[in-house]
Amino acid sequence: MNIDTHCKPNFKKARHLATELLLKQDLDSLFINIIDFDIDIPVKIDSVQHYAKVTKRHINDFTCDGFDGCLVLKYSRCNVILYDETETNIARRNWGIAHELGHLYLEHETDGRIQEQEANVFAGQLIVPEAVLYSILVHKGSIKIKDLTNNFNVSKECSKNRLKSFIKRLNFINIDSNLNKKLSEKFRPCIEQCFYEYKQKYIKDAN
Ligand SMILES: [Zn+2]
Repeated sequence: MNIDTHCKPNFKKARHLATELLLKQDLDSLFINIIDFDIDIPVKIDSVQHYAKVTKRHINDFTCDGFDGCLVLKYSRCNVILYDETETNIARRNWGIAHELGHLYLEHETDGRIQEQEANVFAGQLIVPEAVLYSILVHKGSIKIKDLTNNFNVSKECSKNRLKSFIKRLNFINIDSNLNKKLSEKFRPCIEQCFYEYKQKYIKDAN
């Protein structure tokens, strides 16, 4: 068995894997729904309610140990991410699925503090990518929590944390890296659509 014994989180790897996955998606909005993704590892995403029904099991068979909106069932051929369809907060559900997907992409075998941090960084990059925040900042001249809550599929609480970590990392982001350039280019029409008024203002100011 491959036990992950790393004692330092590898956030670079988490961001890299999330960026690569994002670049493979056909997206036309900043409002990212992980459930619609084409995922290139063996994993199915389903609601726990539907999965229990088709497997003729009781929901409690899957949710007994601390079910918090999302979980992964590990099988040798294909893993299953289960979410709670009664969760009315779509952003929370979206984050939960992205977080579990992070554990799978990062091939975590354990669920310790470091693995949790890495999965959160993966989810953050997948739902609110750094290069996109950077482009908004450049485009608009500033960036606020409501820019995130109004445009991304993310809760207010996550928006706060995401913006905080983005500001903290601002000087370390290599915006000219190949992947970041591709990401900025991919999301450019979405950013211009969401922040059109600022673009117009920018053009006006420039003339
Ligand atoms: Zn986790």
